Amino acid sequence: MSLHRRRLLQALPAGLGLIMGAPALMGQARPQVVVIGGGPGGATAAKYIARDSHGVLDVLLIEPASSYVTCFHSNLYVGGLKSLDAITHSYERLSSSYGIRHIRQRAAHIDRDAKVVRLEDGSRLRYDRLVLSPGVDLLYDSVPGWGRSHEAAMPHAWKAGPQTQIMKARLDSVPDGGLIVMIAPPNPYRCPPGPYERASMMAHVLKNTGRARARIMIIDAKESFSKQGLFQQGWEEYYPGMIEWLGPKIHEGVKSVDPATNTVETGFEIYKDADLVNVIPAQVAGAIATSSGLAGPSGFCEVDSETMRSRIDPNIYILGDAIMSGDMPKSAFAANSQAKVAALNVRAELTGSPSFPARYANTCWSLITPDNAVKVGGSYSAKDGKITSDHSFVSQLDESAVMRKLQAEENIGWYDAICADIFE
Ligand SMILES: Cc1cc2nc3c(=O)[nH]c(=O)nc-3n(C[C@H](O)[C@H](O)[C@H](O)COP(=O)(O)OP(=O)(O)OC[C@H]3O[C@@H](n4cnc5c(N)ncnc54)[C@H](O)[C@@H]3O)c2cc1C
Repeated sequence: MSLHRRRLLQALPAGLGLIMGAPALMGQARPQVVVIGGGPGGATAAKYIARDSHGVLDVLLIEPASSYVTCFHSNLYVGGLKSLDAITHSYERLSSSYGIRHIRQRAAHIDRDAKVVRLEDGSRLRYDRLVLSPGVDLLYDSVPGWGRSHEAAMPHAWKAGPQTQIMKARLDSVPDGGLIVMIAPPNPYRCPPGPYERASMMAHVLKNTGRARARIMIIDAKESFSKQGLFQQGWEEYYPGMIEWLGPKIHEGVKSVDPATNTVETGFEIYKDADLVNVIPAQVAGAIATSSGLAGPSGFCEVDSETMRSRIDPNIYILGDAIMSGDMPKSAFAANSQAKVAALNVRAELTGSPSFPARYANTCWSLITPDNAVKVGGSYSAKDGKITSDHSFVSQLDESAVMRKLQAEENIGWYDAICADIFE
């Protein structure tokens, strides 16, 4: 028996080798890994599984889009610092360099008993292991008066692409003295500092174009938010009087919004005829996770923190924004880090390659101005079934301008590096 075959059989759970290992070793169908979702979670997992298994596994990426527009750095697009092209990435290299088959469809259903994914056109794909990274779905009924049909009138821009363009165009037409209302979501949601970086970039654009009398009201569902002290200090310094944040104890909840009149009514005040209302609703795991019975009562999926394997189905790995991620935030950095743990374990199961204890990392940079970035992050490992922080760091108040500029440069470098790691 070859060393490879012995390792393969040793690595497979009892009984599985007969089903999975034998056809591969007899030169028939290779084990097949299907990945649903081409964001930082799914695309990274597909790349690392295909690249490191050297053709032993077939890897299929199910993603309807031909390219991916990153939410990360979409705030830089809002701030006029990057073009949409600069945050758009093709999947082409994943196919040409690693042999990944990109199937441009939505996964409609997962038949977990048969280990088959049904696509929207009705075709079916078998899998030996499935990696699921569908991101979040927006809860359209979580803000009274707002829904899917109001996305153009009151954009969320929480999925990047046309929504971000609509919001940016509206921002560009806010007059001096105009009003922007942002409704910020409850926890847990994708990118905890995202709304506040967005407000900073909006203020930057308004101030730099002679509209410093415009106001941005943030109506938050939370009593506090990520890097709050740092943002608020920055807003006072760079955008005095432009950004006001209200927690629920003050605004007493969003009672309703009216997209026809751009009105937002809270228990505290009615904001009429706003120039831009940015509704960022509550979020849950992407619909395919829920419809396949993989999400729990929280709306997100529980995974084994050592492997990223679903706690409900051992043949499925789930990662990124769709999971309950313990101490890790929902970020592209986190999804990319989790994808590498999943890839390692998928390969270990299917090819007998070694696996190692899970280690995760995350850093989230946020721009207050183009030259002033703050950051928060940490390293994590699996403890007591949960992704647990081992070490964390956060920027300090009153840091020097030099330090903040360095962090802004780090942020630009990180983006280029992570996008190359995901898509090239
Ligand atoms: C404004 C903003 C700023 C952000 N800034 C940062 C930042 O600075 N740093 C950072 O690390 N993170 C940032 N994030 C967060 C980051 O974008 C997300 O955490 C990350 O995209 C999550 O990756 P994912 O792979 O889990 O999901 P996604 O990126 O959402 O990818 C999911 C993919 O799955 C596909 N899909 C869904 N359902 C199906 C289906 N049924 N069949 C086939 N395909 C499907 C979708 O088309 C999508 O392409 C930001 C987010 C926002 C909104």
